[in-house]
Amino acid sequence: MSWHVEAEMVAFVIVGIILIYSREGNMLPTLKNRVFQLCLFTTFLSIGLNIASVCLIAAGSAVPVILTDVVNTLYFVATPAMALTYFYYTVAYVYEHSARIRRVYLISTIPYAVYMGLALADPATNWLFSYDVQNGYQRGPLQILPYVVFYAYCVGCLLITALRRKHIDPSIRRILYAFPLVAAVVIVVQQVVPQYILSGSAAACALLVIYLYLQNKRITVDPLTGLSNRQAYTAMLELRLRQKHPITVVVVSLMDFKFINDTFGQKSGDRVLRQIASFLSKEAAPDRVYRCGGDEFAVLMESETDADKRIRRMRKQFSQPWDVFGSGCMVYAGIGVARAWQLKLSVEELVSALECAVAEAKEGSTGRVVVCDDRMVARMKRKHAVTEILKEELLNQGFEVYYQPIYRCKDGGFPVAEALLRLPDTPLGPIYPDEFIPIAEETGLIVQMTYLVLAKVCKFVRRLLDEGAKLEGVSVNLSVLQFMQRDLADHIAEILDYYQIPARFIKLEITESVVASNYEAVLSVMEKLAKKGVQFALDDFGTGYSNLSYVMHLPVDMVKIDRSLIWSSLNNDRCATLVEAVSRTFGQAGIRMIAEGVETGEQAAFAQRCGIELIQGFLYAKPMPQEEALPYLMGVKELVNK
Ligand code: C2E
Ligand code: CA
Ligand code: CA
Repeated sequence: MSWHVEAEMVAFVIVGIILIYSREGNMLPTLKNRVFQLCLFTTFLSIGLNIASVCLIAAGSAVPVILTDVVNTLYFVATPAMALTYFYYTVAYVYEHSARIRRVYLISTIPYAVYMGLALADPATNWLFSYDVQNGYQRGPLQILPYVVFYAYCVGCLLITALRRKHIDPSIRRILYAFPLVAAVVIVVQQVVPQYILSGSAAACALLVIYLYLQNKRITVDPLTGLSNRQAYTAMLELRLRQKHPITVVVVSLMDFKFINDTFGQKSGDRVLRQIASFLSKEAAPDRVYRCGGDEFAVLMESETDADKRIRRMRKQFSQPWDVFGSGCMVYAGIGVARAWQLKLSVEELVSALECAVAEAKEGSTGRVVVCDDRMVARMKRKHAVTEILKEELLNQGFEVYYQPIYRCKDGGFPVAEALLRLPDTPLGPIYPDEFIPIAEETGLIVQMTYLVLAKVCKFVRRLLDEGAKLEGVSVNLSVLQFMQRDLADHIAEILDYYQIPARFIKLEITESVVASNYEAVLSVMEKLAKKGVQFALDDFGTGYSNLSYVMHLPVDMVKIDRSLIWSSLNNDRCATLVEAVSRTFGQAGIRMIAEGVETGEQAAFAQRCGIELIQGFLYAKPMPQEEALPYLMGVKELVNK
């Protein structure tokens, strides 16, 4: 009989390609993935040996008998190994977290090991086959054995998958059933057309299915919770909106989840996330749940029926504790809801509107449900418009920097100023920092904006110094995002160098929340810059935790007492006593003090009584354009004020 190996050659190439790509790709070295690689390797080897043995037999006496004999023997060793490794793969899925896995592997290897002994002994026994030049290839009495072993492992795969089906995700179950079933079909076909060798093609098909599944899963599934990820979420939203499907989108955003991680540890945090994912999956069924952020989930409800009731149940669940290794822990959530078909928005707009709803839902301490309405959509559109303006201004370097001169009590001079960003003239009219700074932070635009402010400030300082001002320095606000840039210190140094500004003329203002966000990183950048001579001011002191350890351990030269403390001090004696004590203590430790937000003579007198050196407030000077601030900083204005 003449055999056809064309299909096997194609299969050989396909498995070879998958083998290369799966090695080059960044598959995690989990047991499953490693066993999958083993499957690929044995299949590749087995198909290769199959093709080689057919070719060698066809070549007859043109090649040494021993070579044909050895290759055929190896083929008999390798072919059932394909089924064995596939069985291993099924076991890796089914018993992944079970202590029994080693035992299962050990016991299941025994039949193959016995068979392999027999196969390797075949050149002496000829039980499987014999080969010589005169008689060619002859079947042996145990010719059927490799097939028995092969199909025994296939049946084993089917059995354990079926027995443990409740523990296996349906999509994986389908995959695990694939190989044995494809193999069974091939037996039948092989009986009908025995001259066409198809065993390798069958294995290649099954492996291709698994590989595509793994790839697809890696792209769209969140590995921690097993839920579909953000990419899948936006793709589905896009599809449903295009189809004008009446969907309701529910975004569940956890509040203070960092606290859980910090207090109970990352492992407990992961456990809570998995519990939440499993609760939402049950509650949302048959709809799909997505993990669309670290602490954010979304449900796309395909029908209106029961939507409100289901949302109420979700809300209720988040007012009860979750289990963290035996103890209960509260995780509140803000829930944003959008009846997408009513709002008539694009995907981006819908996602932003939901962000607004979620932000509102997370106001307060225990979270609530907020439904996106026209007001919210208008707010989202404004936010979108402001973002566009910020991008445009950044592109044209168009922001205005105002300067608020800071009053020195001792001599009435204005040796310092704070640089404050302004957008006085935009298509939306003037936009104030309280609105655009949070948007700039959220969109990450603040990073480039700060560098722009710094450059403008340096240019102004250069001019002041050239004109002989007795300037102490100008301060610039740094946002938390700035510290996530690895080259922050170098970038600032570059700007200072460019304008030839000695570092002591620039003071960087940071708030406590910046420090608290990542103490180590912030400290290291501050130390690097402080070494170069840049000075730091701790802004808004008294609004956060007012952590004295920050003042003690960070290279901070100035502390700015927030205006809320100054204002409260006038009608609250305890507050006044505290501010006074803190100011004197800082003063004695050589830290300079600035009182912020001073608007009245009374407030100024209080600040002076506390021994505070500098006062920033409308009483003395409001933030103003550069040209107006110039005389203050040149020392001309002090005379006017006296
Ligand atoms: P901040 O850093 O606390 O800046 C001081 C704010 O207090 C300024 O508000 C200033 O105009 C205001 N202020 C000064 N004196 C008085 C007073 O006597 N009474 C009252 N009621 N307010 C006074 P502004 O300019 O609206 O800035 C608000 C916030 O926006 C700033 O608070 C700062 O956090 C942020 N910001 C402004 N410019 C920038 C910037 O360039 N970068 C960064 N990252 N943030 C900035
Ligand atoms: Ca400030
Ligand atoms: Ca401040």
